[in-house]
Amino acid sequence: MDFSFTKKEEQFRQELRTWLEENLPEGWLAGNRELPEDEEEYSAFLRNWQKTLHEGGWAAIAWPKKYGGRDATLMEEIIYQQEMVRVKAPPLVNYVGIHMVAPTLMQIGTEEQKEEYINKILIGEEVWCQGYSEPNAGSDLAAIQTSAVKEGDKWIINGQKVWTSFGHLADRCFLLTRTSHKEKKHQGITVFLLDMKQPGVETLPIVQMDGKKEFNEVYLNDAVAYDADIVGEVDEGWKVTMALLMHERTGIGAQVFTLEQQFEDLVKLTKELHVNDQPLIKDPFVRQKMVDFYTRFRGSLLNYYRHLTKTLKDGHPGAEGSMDKLMVSELTKELFDYAVSVQGHQGVLWKKDALVDSYWQDNFLQSFGMTIGGGTSEILRNTIAERILGLPKDLGR
Ligand SMILES: Cc1cc2nc3c(=O)[nH]c(=O)nc-3n(C[C@H](O)[C@H](O)[C@H](O)COP(=O)(O)OP(=O)(O)OC[C@H]3O[C@@H](n4cnc5c(N)ncnc54)[C@H](O)[C@@H]3O)c2cc1C
Repeated sequence: MDFSFTKKEEQFRQELRTWLEENLPEGWLAGNRELPEDEEEYSAFLRNWQKTLHEGGWAAIAWPKKYGGRDATLMEEIIYQQEMVRVKAPPLVNYVGIHMVAPTLMQIGTEEQKEEYINKILIGEEVWCQGYSEPNAGSDLAAIQTSAVKEGDKWIINGQKVWTSFGHLADRCFLLTRTSHKEKKHQGITVFLLDMKQPGVETLPIVQMDGKKEFNEVYLNDAVAYDADIVGEVDEGWKVTMALLMHERTGIGAQVFTLEQQFEDLVKLTKELHVNDQPLIKDPFVRQKMVDFYTRFRGSLLNYYRHLTKTLKDGHPGAEGSMDKLMVSELTKELFDYAVSVQGHQGVLWKKDALVDSYWQDNFLQSFGMTIGGGTSEILRNTIAERILGLPKDLGR
């Protein structure tokens, strides 16, 4: 395979670079990347960034042109990821909408749903969240208990969701409910596109170990939805659930480009830090670790390219997304663990007190979640064993 870029692709890169230089928030490229602490200001900042991306035609380049995307080629998508990571671009507030809900609606939604939601997702008018996990249903997702009962022309929804990322900012939720109790728990599930801004929906933030509040408990007390909000068929929501999950895992796998940048940052760190007047990188054990990281991260990257090619051919992601997600999340955790440990006892210093840059400590704390959200590493290993290697089913499920 040839991984070099053509002249046309390099022009695409240059176009994006120029646009980023002109449109990133003021001071961003100079390193002033603090996001507002205040929740409303934070939300306004991120919505504004998504609006800017959309106006420049850079919000959802992989989408078909008819939905406002660019019909980007595989190589253009790779270039886009590389450039966004290079400038450490602000996060996408409507990540769930752009990378998970909209592609699923394009695949499975009704024409009315596509018409109603896809453009609002693109322009950032509506932010989405994903209402899957419950206190007693995480890995065993089919055990969900949140109920939806038909009363007249309404569906009345009651139950509790947990770990709902962006739930406090979201206008709509891709919500999993139980609509009937059948012999098999994977049956009797229905997906609704729920309006979050209604009296029956209450969100309570969960404080993470890094002090941030990025996900929530969501309480549903007689929340209301309609037939038009159902994705797919009543009681047949499991395949809809899986379609969205595949988009989620593939999206997390794409963080292999972030990992590429983080690896380069780690090399720089080991050149900056000194022990006995020698840069750390001169230490043979450190060098060995760097080679180890490099080989494994290159392996993940090449595997990601392989999977992306297959996704483009098939038109939708497959079970291989689980491999990408597993490798990237585990490697990221290991890399930040190492980066903090090479700072010795000062590695525990954080925020303004950090020895080098709180970037290392912040990402170390965040990295644990990556190996859990979107499917834990153990569950992904089960998926790979069953769906890719054809091994017997996990007896626990
Ligand atoms: C950063 C982050 C963001 C998230 N965002 C969302 C969101 O937006 N929406 C949403 O719905 N959820 C979200 N989640 C929740 C996430 O999907 C669940 O945490 C995850 O599915 C695991 O479920 P659980 O926490 O209930 O753990 P459990 O399922 O209870 O698992 C506990 C432990 O047991 C292991 N285990 C369980 N079953 C098996 C098995 N069969 N074989 C081997 N090991 C097993 C697991 O790997 C894990 O180590 C998020 C989580 C994180 C960390």
